[in-house]
Amino acid sequence: MTSIAQIIVAAGKGARIGGDTPKQYQKVAGKALLEWTLDAVYAAPQITNYVLVVAPNDSLIADIAPKYPNLQLATGGATRTASVKAGLDALKDIAPNHVLIHDGARPFASEALISEIISALESAPAAVPTLPIADAIKTLTGESVDREALRRVQTPQGFDYAKIFAAFEALPEGESFADDIAIAQRAGLEITFTQGDENNFKVTYPADFAKAEMMLKTEDYIATGTGYDVHRFTKGDVLWLCGVPIECGFTLLGHSDADAGLHALTDAILGALAFGDIGDHFPPSDPQWKGASSDKFLSYAIEKIKERGGALQHVDVTLICEKPKIKPHREAMRARIAALCELPLIRVSVKATTTEKLGFTGRAEGLAAQAAATIKLPA
Ligand code: MG
Repeated sequence: MTSIAQIIVAAGKGARIGGDTPKQYQKVAGKALLEWTLDAVYAAPQITNYVLVVAPNDSLIADIAPKYPNLQLATGGATRTASVKAGLDALKDIAPNHVLIHDGARPFASEALISEIISALESAPAAVPTLPIADAIKTLTGESVDREALRRVQTPQGFDYAKIFAAFEALPEGESFADDIAIAQRAGLEITFTQGDENNFKVTYPADFAKAEMMLKTEDYIATGTGYDVHRFTKGDVLWLCGVPIECGFTLLGHSDADAGLHALTDAILGALAFGDIGDHFPPSDPQWKGASSDKFLSYAIEKIKERGGALQHVDVTLICEKPKIKPHREAMRARIAALCELPLIRVSVKATTTEKLGFTGRAEGLAAQAAATIKLPA
């Protein structure tokens, strides 16, 4: 079987885009630009090995690399040519038949475009996707240039690995080229042109970022989760409910502070995230949660919303009990939940009801809480 390696070059500083974060790590539609590019090249089933070339001291790749299986990292150099060379060197032991070299800032390389290059390499040592130019072309001094003789060149560019490796080896020390085709040409390799793709543009300027965002953006969705919790009454002084202490001469029995209101709400949020339940994340068997203040659990769930790029919209808690009286504490509960959830008060509801003396809540053996959470999430 023909082995095909993919080098992705992401060692640049992206000076043309502005901002402190290197271009490849700037977020577009919720993910780093580089992740979109990796997703695109990982979609090509023919590719057997991946090398990602990053800048020396790149600390941001550590969050991204583990998401991509079989991804080897290499450290780039001062120029694109030096960085590609580092990628080619990293493949020396594998010595694939073919290698594709791709810009980290081209997130729209389609499977069809990649396949066409791979097919072209069956009969040519080098293949490059190109596009004709629709606009008239002038020099800065106003002379016309024949656009029919010109092509725009994209990546991935494909090569016979041994031949492009030798071409890079033969370069004079420190010499740098705009792209890898130029180096192949210098070595006398025959170049095959394949069909480029208008969508496969390189994100270079701020306006490109806006265009990429538009192309990659997926529709958000609204998720509603529900939670339910029960705790038994026991002797005590202070009962915690919805993050508020109530001095009522009894309390709730539980491993943590037994705040059924916050437990139900935490479960509602985890439910909307489809991320298990409170017991999965805070097992009662774990002694570190003994007597824990339940706002920790809720804050954890709020953190998980943020990690998913979501936004909590609204919460609604219903407390079901004969005692204690909820009404005197209701506004304090809303305020506490609003603070923990980082929501305006208008988006936080706390209600109370009884069960008309029926069942365990009716007999005042304990109380129950149910909650709903509505979260906007990226697709
Ligand atoms: Mg509980």
